[in-house]
Amino acid sequence: MLSRRGLVRGVLGASCAALAPSLPAWSTPAVPADDAADMVRFIAALPKAEYHVHLEGTLEAEMKFALAKRNGLDLPFADVAAMKASYVYHDLPSFLAIYYDGMKVLRTEQDFHDLAYAYLARAASQNILYAEMFFDPQEHLKRGVPMAAVIGGITSARESAAAQLGIGSQLILCFVRDLSAESAMETLNAALPFRQHLVAVGLDSDEKDHPPIKFAAHFAKARAAGLKVTAHCDLNQKDILEHIRQAIVDIRVDRIDHGGNILESPELIAMARARNLSFTVCPSFSGTVRGEAPPIDVVRGMLDAGLNVTINSDDPAYMGSEYLNEVLVQAQARSALTKAELVGLSRNAFKAGWMGEAPRAACLARLDAFARAEGVTG
Ligand SMILES: [Zn+2]
Repeated sequence: MLSRRGLVRGVLGASCAALAPSLPAWSTPAVPADDAADMVRFIAALPKAEYHVHLEGTLEAEMKFALAKRNGLDLPFADVAAMKASYVYHDLPSFLAIYYDGMKVLRTEQDFHDLAYAYLARAASQNILYAEMFFDPQEHLKRGVPMAAVIGGITSARESAAAQLGIGSQLILCFVRDLSAESAMETLNAALPFRQHLVAVGLDSDEKDHPPIKFAAHFAKARAAGLKVTAHCDLNQKDILEHIRQAIVDIRVDRIDHGGNILESPELIAMARARNLSFTVCPSFSGTVRGEAPPIDVVRGMLDAGLNVTINSDDPAYMGSEYLNEVLVQAQARSALTKAELVGLSRNAFKAGWMGEAPRAACLARLDAFARAEGVTG
């Protein structure tokens, strides 16, 4: 989620002039239109995976109205445009208020099915072959929605999307870190009967004063049940380097969500590389590491540090309806990513996925075929 993630939206659209060929003297644009259009085409066609998307963050305003009508709920907005105009955040609490309020329209198993299927359909349309998706069951249990309805709806959508659209997916249960440890344990216990529908547990929401170690027992119990473990280490948060250290050393996570501040610590970078950890970076909100002049570009910095970076969309419905293709187009321009690096990012993602070896090989074969057809090595 957003700063649930960093609320510091970076400067987008930096020049990708490094990719441009020499231009005749009469031509002035820094990025030729043909090159920019070709990069958009390349990114759209690139076989991709996504590992950092909050299903509740894909709840588009249009669907909120449809679900509210179906469930007999009133919304305090005249129309979709008015709702979208309210998506203005000046700090984390103001974002979370809108985010959590928005998901109140999710009431039934069918609602969760529709939400997940809509995301997976959008993802499939963007050549995402495989997705691992977060959800926040505590927020739904608080409203009296049974765990069976939440997981059941999402699971049936995953099965339908796989059969009808060919997109693979798995589900990551997130603990809402600013709620109590007791609440998170109750949620984990309620979810374990549905263990076969989950691949991992994660940690999201407001990070300030809620370190990973607060959930050490939860992660241990989940791991004992065969689940993978990941955690948000949002950008530029209080005590963020200690949080990253806890995630790597104390919790021994299998992956880190965001984690850009690792660039401030050569020691942590060395640990992450030794563990071959992957990072699910969301460049729309993980633009630059704090303070430095000039600021460090997270994607460029992490790639240059030899870290396993994947690019992801986070909460697209609250970020201008920008899904992975749009996020990648912006990241490519800002971080001057080459086509070979874009292929490398997809390769990182397919290697980092918690999928079986047969689907992983199939995804990598699709990527290799694409790269060969494009004449790109990487
Ligand atoms: Zn997130």
